[in-house]
Amino acid sequence: MHDTLPQETPAWRLLEQGIAAVLARYGYEEIRLPLVEKTELFQRSIGEATDIVSKEMYTFQDRNGDSLTLRPEGTAGCVRAALEHGLLHNQVQRLWYMGPMFRHERPQQGRTRQFHQIGVEVFGLEGPDIDAEVIILCARIWRELGLDGLRLELNTLGTPESRQAYRSALVDFFRGRVQELDEDSRRRLDSNPLRILDSKNPAMGAVIGDAPPMSEFLDDDSREHFQRLQELLDAAGVTFTINPRLVRGLDYYSRTVFEWITDRLGAQGTVCAGGRYDGLVEQFGGRATPAIGFALGLERLRGLLPESLAAAARAPHAYFIHTGGEALAAAMRLAEELRDALPSLRLLLHCGDGSLKSQLKKADKSGADLALILAEDELQRQVVGVKPLRGGEQFEAAWPALAVTLEKTLGLSSPDAARPVSALSL
Ligand code: ATP
Ligand code: MG
Repeated sequence: MHDTLPQETPAWRLLEQGIAAVLARYGYEEIRLPLVEKTELFQRSIGEATDIVSKEMYTFQDRNGDSLTLRPEGTAGCVRAALEHGLLHNQVQRLWYMGPMFRHERPQQGRTRQFHQIGVEVFGLEGPDIDAEVIILCARIWRELGLDGLRLELNTLGTPESRQAYRSALVDFFRGRVQELDEDSRRRLDSNPLRILDSKNPAMGAVIGDAPPMSEFLDDDSREHFQRLQELLDAAGVTFTINPRLVRGLDYYSRTVFEWITDRLGAQGTVCAGGRYDGLVEQFGGRATPAIGFALGLERLRGLLPESLAAAARAPHAYFIHTGGEALAAAMRLAEELRDALPSLRLLLHCGDGSLKSQLKKADKSGADLALILAEDELQRQVVGVKPLRGGEQFEAAWPALAVTLEKTLGLSSPDAARPVSALSL
């Protein structure tokens, strides 16, 4: 479990806010859910035979003796909440949430025990149109955040019935080649044979490659659904490959499953995973409700965020230095006026003592583009010295013109930028 230090948080904000903004533009609404749920919620939904439930959950007893678990994923809690508050009754819901998830995994690159997801869940739509929408939405998120090199893999798991037939065929197949299976896969042979296909062990590649594909067992409706989804993605210009071995680690999926994968993060290359789970709401005691969702792993997305974007979000635009006394009072007033006029400006006002020279060093170290300088002389003449710290000549701006000057110099685009700054009366 990691701390996120101040150097890092601007990149996280950029990711979180960027994704939230895209979701809002598609009409998705945020739902905020507890971090802790009853243990049985996860046992019933994710499935006893999955890695998560069998060995990764943080489970404890509270003072009432109830067994509770730190959420390892968000779908179960979201379905619980939606049912509890009657959100699924004859309604379509497009929901999203964000926050930490907890799994007791072996820590390694791309795998932590507290990690963060943004999850999307849509309820009440059964057609391939919504499958296409959530995938197209992902593609937009990558585009708008400048995340390159993500490829989309798709598969269909069919209905529970066709999946059952497939499951039997897989068990027969893997039984015949049991000597090639590693220990994990042998264990899964009885409990969760589809998961063998999801093995991360390269030595299992050959036997998995020979396994029969799901497509041979697919029912007609699922086949048609999958076909239409592919047409819609083609029409939207979203490229994909079909991976007949793609399954998901959780038990509740049916029909469409997908993953967005990168080669840039080593072995843990899946940054987003999702699919349809038409049976889950009913399994929780609700009325049968089709559903589809996905979860993005924010740590992994952070690893893909261009450093230039992260760095630009981090540093202040300007660092205001002054000679104290009257100059400090004027600088503070001016700083407030600038913050009024330029809401996107990140402005740091020097606090504490220090010569102009030492303050200038601090300004440089802060990563700011500009130092704003207000000493006795500037105070008398009601101007501010503007010193570019990354190259360029120092110049002066009169107080009333300062906001407009900074807006231009820094290339800030703000709806309020044109608002005139009133002259200061000190
Ligand atoms: P894997 O097969 O890699 O274990 P999973 O099937 O357990 O993945 P999901 O439950 O689908 O993963 O989670 C969705 C996304 O959340 C993953 O694609 C990944 O980006 C992220 N994620 C999952 N587990 C972790 C973790 N322990 N640390 C960091 N990110 C994670
Ligand atoms: Mg996992």
